[in-house]
Amino acid sequence: MKILQAVFNFLYEIILGCSHQHLTRPFTLQKETYKVCLDCGKQIYYSAVTMRPLTVREVHRLNASRAGEVRVMPTPGTAAPTLVPARARKTNAA
Ligand SMILES: [Zn+2]
Repeated sequence: MKILQAVFNFLYEIILGCSHQHLTRPFTLQKETYKVCLDCGKQIYYSAVTMRPLTVREVHRLNASRAGEVRVMPTPGTAAPTLVPARARKTNAA
């Protein structure tokens, strides 16, 4: 039965995320605000502005903005595409 419980917990966490309720208070380290699950150690990103956990989409946006958006663009004269940092591209923002 322990194996079935472990498999159930594994699938539950994949589908619904962490189900643990023992979380730290939100804290900020290196400009990242998050709570930590005391049972499994997972970081749950938290908004210090709205005081609620971030959605998966918001976490993806946050990671993309921190990494610097990179787009693969073909360049004339070369066969292989090259990576162009976001700040090197022209923007449509006025
Ligand atoms: Zn957990």
